[in-house]
Amino acid sequence: MGLLNDILEKLLSNFLSLKEDDWVEWISQLNNWRDDCDKFNGCHFILKQMPRYPQHPNCQCRLEKIENPIPNITANANCDIRKFTDYIFSDKYDDGKKDLFENWGYTIADSAYLQQLFVSQTLQKYCKGDYIYKGAGKFYAHIEIVIEVPAKSGKSYRVKTGWAVLPKGEIKLTTPFSGFSN
Ligand SMILES: [Zn+2]
Repeated sequence: MGLLNDILEKLLSNFLSLKEDDWVEWISQLNNWRDDCDKFNGCHFILKQMPRYPQHPNCQCRLEKIENPIPNITANANCDIRKFTDYIFSDKYDDGKKDLFENWGYTIADSAYLQQLFVSQTLQKYCKGDYIYKGAGKFYAHIEIVIEVPAKSGKSYRVKTGWAVLPKGEIKLTTPFSGFSN
């Protein structure tokens, strides 16, 4: 037990030396416990918006301080165009999203434009730590990023988007529209 306490104490003192705007890579100590630690392995977070650390008693995950991420160099946003073509603009879902985007002047033909808009804005914001940690899902940590979607009328709307955090600075779009932000 003494050795374990030493390890935990070292991990904790390392953690306490970090500042809230520091970026870290979460390095999990793989185990068979039914915890969320494995989902965070290799993922990059700003300290002020990351999973609770330590996750649980005897959590031996390690946080390694890293350089602030740089868009398209050490961080990437992955946004599948089908989130627009087969979801937002699909007739399959009667949830108002298609009407909303169409009211802003967009059609399915604008999917590539929207994909690019989402990627560039979210990547900038993720790299600034301008996101909200939303908790662990079934497989990944989830974050919310607010972006500005310009309607063709000239007005802009602040839209909440949902992203999964993947290892090595990658985020992946899960929800292109989860409501408006103030
Ligand atoms: Zn852990």
